Parts: sequence; C-alpha cells; structure tokens
Amino acid sequence: MKLQFIGTGAADYDWKKYGEPGIAGSTSTLLDDTVLLDCGPTVPAALKRFGVDSMQITDIFLTHSHSDHFNIESVRQVAEGHTVRFHGSPQACEKVKDICEVHPFEKYGDTAQVGGLCQVTAIPASHYLQDLHEPAYLYIITDNPGKSDSKTLLYALDTAWMPSVARAMLGKSHLDAIVWDATMSQPGDWRIFDHSDPVMFKAIRQALYNSGNIDDSVKIWFDHRARTLWPADSAEQEAIARHENVMLAHEGETVII
Ligand SMILES: [Zn+2]
Ligand SMILES: [Zn+2]
Repeated sequence: MKLQFIGTGAADYDWKKYGEPGIAGSTSTLLDDTVLLDCGPTVPAALKRFGVDSMQITDIFLTHSHSDHFNIESVRQVAEGHTVRFHGSPQACEKVKDICEVHPFEKYGDTAQVGGLCQVTAIPASHYLQDLHEPAYLYIITDNPGKSDSKTLLYALDTAWMPSVARAMLGKSHLDAIVWDATMSQPGDWRIFDHSDPVMFKAIRQALYNSGNIDDSVKIWFDHRARTLWPADSAEQEAIARHENVMLAHEGETVII
C-alpha cells in the first residue's frame, strides 16, 4: 500500500498563503496514486505541486464534512473531465451528486470496494459536526484483500478517543499502519473532545497493543497537526514524534506500508 501525504495541516492555516514556506495544506492523503482520502481547500493545488494528475483519481473517501476536509470546489476540480466515485456520509454525497458518482455509507460498518485494489470500511469517529445527524468516519482500509501480501491501515482523523462502537467494529483486525489525528502536541487542551494529543494516543496505542490489533512492526504517523498547537520548529516537532515512537506525516511525502 502506497500513501502520499498531500496535506498535513489542521484548519488553523491561512490557505491563501498555500505554497509559502511553513504553510501545510489541508489534511488529505493519496492512496495508491488513485484514491483521495478527503478533499479540502488545498487539494487541487497540492496535486499539481506534487505532480499528480487529477485524471488518475478514481475515488474520493470523505471522513467528514468540516471545511478543512470537504471543499465542493476542490471536488469539482478533481472530478473535472472524468468520473470520480465519491464515498461519504449521505449528507455530503447529496452535496456533490451532480459532480461525482456518489456512494453514501448508509450505516457504520458498511464497506466499499475500490476495484480489486482495496476495501474501505467506515466506522465512527469521535468528532462533532454541526448537523448532529451527520456521521464522521474513521476508515479501515485493506489492500489486496484476501491475499498474503494484504495490508490494513486505520485512517483516524479527525477524532478524539475511538468510540466503543468503532472499537467493536475493529474487532480482532490486525493493523499494519495507523494515520492518527495529532491536532495537539501537548495534553490539557479543550479540544480533547474532538481531537487527540500524544498522551491520549499513547493510551489508545497501548490498548490496541494489548488486544492484539497492533504489534511492534506497526507504522504510525501523526497527521492533521495544528499550526497553533505544535511548536513552529521542525526539530522540536520531530522530537515529540520520536518520544512517542511514531513518525510525522510530512507534506508531499510518499510512504509504503
Ligand atoms: Zn480537520
Ligand atoms: Zn474536523
């Protein structure tokens, strides 16, 4: 499984300045060169910047409808000139049904197939949306399902503690990698009800380890880092990641799971 982090920032960046040094893009990840996880304001510019032709994009999976993850104009630009399948909440699908071929997740635990490439299961996030009836999703993504080289990724942003329903749906799945919400770099922030800090993640990680979902080979990235809640100095950022034995998602970086 190939991931490219095409945006790693939370919503507190000024994206009019996107492209200037130190300005992270809206959080979005490209999976196997063809599948976009979220499509926020900087995605079309990021695809150009990192040399990705939007005609390659076959599917968009939306985690939730906050404006740093879901920008209808960005979806329109990515889908221009070809058919893109859009997967997400029924509410989000309704908003892009004239632009994309929409495939709403009707309930938690629903799975979508992306050709023979991967399967994606939507489980609940702990994240507040203004429309209280609209779900926010974490995704369990498995490539080459059923094959010996199959890998499974938990894509978990934006979220605070994993809800118990998500935990139950994760079941005994073995996770090879996790991309986790790291909006805060320190504990004690009021945003803990919607986002995570390293201390929260450490506890979740230990529980996943104890229940056999992860082992020492797991690869973990902290993503969706807030400009105002992380040190500006990149060496200090890396030190926090090293201390937690995780990696930071970097703008434009490609990683293999
Ligand atoms: Zn966000
Ligand atoms: Zn959000």
